[in-house]
Amino acid sequence: MALRTPLGSRVVARNRTRRRNTPPRSRPLKFLFVVGGVMSGVGKGVASASIALLLEARGIRTTALKIDPYINVDAGTMNPTEHGEVFVLADGMETDQDMGNYERFLNRNLSRANYMTTGSIYLSVIEKERNLAYGGRNVEVVPDIPLEVIHRIRRAAELDGAEVAVVEIGGTVGEYQNILFLEAIRMLKIEEPDNVGVVLVSYLPVPSTIGEMKTKPTQYAARTLNSAGVFADIILARAPRPIDAKRREKIARACSVPPQRVISAPDVANIYEVPLNFEREHLTDELCLLLGLQRRCRPTADLTPWRAFVRRSKRAKETLRIAVVGKYFHSGDFVLADVYLSVLEAIKFSAWQKGVRPELEYVSTIPFEQGTSLATLDAFDAIVVPGGFGSRGIEGTLKVVSYARTRKIPYLGLCYGMQLMVIEYARNVAGLKGAHTTEINPHTPHPVVMVLPEQEALLKRQQFGGTMRLGEYPAILKAGTIAAEAYFGSRGRRQRRDENEQQLLITERHRHRYEVNPEYVRPLEEAGLVFSGVSPDGRLMEIAELPREVHPFMVGTQFHPEFRARPLAPHPLFTAFIQVAYERRRHAA
Ligand code: GLN
Repeated sequence: MALRTPLGSRVVARNRTRRRNTPPRSRPLKFLFVVGGVMSGVGKGVASASIALLLEARGIRTTALKIDPYINVDAGTMNPTEHGEVFVLADGMETDQDMGNYERFLNRNLSRANYMTTGSIYLSVIEKERNLAYGGRNVEVVPDIPLEVIHRIRRAAELDGAEVAVVEIGGTVGEYQNILFLEAIRMLKIEEPDNVGVVLVSYLPVPSTIGEMKTKPTQYAARTLNSAGVFADIILARAPRPIDAKRREKIARACSVPPQRVISAPDVANIYEVPLNFEREHLTDELCLLLGLQRRCRPTADLTPWRAFVRRSKRAKETLRIAVVGKYFHSGDFVLADVYLSVLEAIKFSAWQKGVRPELEYVSTIPFEQGTSLATLDAFDAIVVPGGFGSRGIEGTLKVVSYARTRKIPYLGLCYGMQLMVIEYARNVAGLKGAHTTEINPHTPHPVVMVLPEQEALLKRQQFGGTMRLGEYPAILKAGTIAAEAYFGSRGRRQRRDENEQQLLITERHRHRYEVNPEYVRPLEEAGLVFSGVSPDGRLMEIAELPREVHPFMVGTQFHPEFRARPLAPHPLFTAFIQVAYERRRHAA
């Protein structure tokens, strides 16, 4: 049996889910921690995702984890204006939006093992203690919390068959909240100095009054990190522009890093260029040297598909104006586009694939409730109504849905956007006056959207956290519909299918509590609405749409297709939507 150190090394890849090209037992897991200095919002998530992509492009299986410092056990209970988008993994975990970036860059699904928060870590330590897993000893914040962090990183790497774990630590160094994660790095580094690397993502401001790039905040950030017993091996110098030789030297000297490990990381218009810039700066060579992987990795990266994708994104000239309609836009005077991040990215991937450049505009629905004319929507080629919760702005959104339907503007409704499409149709076409979702009006005469009994029980007990219908569920599509054609092409187009033919089965990620009320399915269908995607048991309506003869593209999904859209694999529904918007625009021109 292999010897185990107190921090559990030599446990890499010993399990059943090991993949073919995973490291043999003797190869230790390499840890690459990504920490932030100076301030948040400088792209630590994109940097981590890019690093993971670059290592994979050198043939090294890499997984990416996010550790968030808050007490919330997952991101599901947080208000979007507080937190940004809640990303949902295939297994139903509600996470920070950085997990979305990791999946998009790595082009594969990650699991709940790749995400943790202070709350979830404490919860499992306490549960273990209650189960006597610590054998009766005193369980302490240090070392037991950092040990749990390390244990979880190893487990995530093992499940993903990874040789390197890129671990992004939320927040900024110097915050009280993430000190225990820095302690995990320190402890690990003592025991495995050759297997641990630290990347500091810092920021170099250029004050407009002097126009000079300043290094001092980065020097302070490096020292703050040092005071936690952790030393940066590589510094990513995020800044409005590339760093010059003089400042590179200065940072190298002050922060005890060789100059070639100070990596220039200027602002970019398109985040997908970041890995290409890093590669140009020889970041991957340095990372491989740092982690002792130079003999394992390919000498050059295979970034061919990624480069082609970035080229496509730049080549797109013709524009398409798309309204993203919602309410979570403002934080003080600031417009928060982050809340719908995956939706925006999903639109971009499909548009770029078609060679068009999407111009995305955030349209708040509140003014429509106060009498602003909906005619402003005529300027758009398409309308997207993403997911949401609660009553604010909803009557305004319903007006937008109505406008899109009657003016035949291509419409894509996601989750709430589908429920509102059903409500609008019930009220204005099916003649069900006052139809609503019980989320907003529990006493509506026509609860066309409602909670199912199992969800009602949870709500009564106030069990809100992690109890929505979350993650992947299958749906069966109706042949001949817009949805079936989008997903299955000519196979989905055929109106009649012979009995032996395979079902048109899809799997998509969900995050909702309310459902189309089964009792209203018949009357809605009789009024012309088509439920083109239904759960295999026939009980849950997954996609609603209008027939092509009535509207060029009016489709709503109870699930969130945006979570599955990838740069190298755009989502078929978004692609179909963009295609129709594009054709309509061409026609009008
Ligand atoms: N509020 C709706 C529900 O809970 C929609 C949720 C969403 O859009 N993600 O069902």
